[in-house]
Amino acid sequence: MSEVTLHAENEEAMLALGARLGLLTEGRGVLYLNGDLGAGKTTLSRGLLRGLGHQGKVKSPTFTLVEPYELEGMKIYHFDLYRLADPEELEFMGIRDYLQPDALCLVEWPERGVGILPKADLTITITPEGAGRSLRLMPQGGRGQAWCASLAN
Ligand code: ADP
Ligand code: MG
Repeated sequence: MSEVTLHAENEEAMLALGARLGLLTEGRGVLYLNGDLGAGKTTLSRGLLRGLGHQGKVKSPTFTLVEPYELEGMKIYHFDLYRLADPEELEFMGIRDYLQPDALCLVEWPERGVGILPKADLTITITPEGAGRSLRLMPQGGRGQAWCASLAN
């Protein structure tokens, strides 16, 4: 199973897709979220966190760079690196602490963290499609492939 393209015709569908993916991850792995400002990266992340049981708000970590969540023993880190000037800043903010094998990292604007970020299990590229969105899912390993195979069905 390689690349998969999915469609989310509105925000509700995006949240539902995120929730499905969140359950598949079981709170472990690295997801890169690509797409322009307003593409829907944070919306997908919100769905994912809700799917894993988060009931509060999901704010965009645009200024804080990362927002940590702890859900039923799962550790989830939602990054937005839009304002990162240099990938090395990630070292200063202690990214090593976030990169435990039992954590889930969602990364918006991963290209800003090249060289420091861990390898992705799955890269999702979101683009506008009519009033909705198209999502291209590219797995980078066995774990991502398994998620894609489940989502394609
Ligand atoms: P990003 O994090 O990529 O900058 P956001 O998740 O903040 O983008 O979403 C921007 C806007 O797009 C929000 O107003 C959201 O409601 C809308 N949106 C998200 N997903 C979809 C979708 N599948 N179809 C239509 N609108 C969407
Ligand atoms: Mg965002």
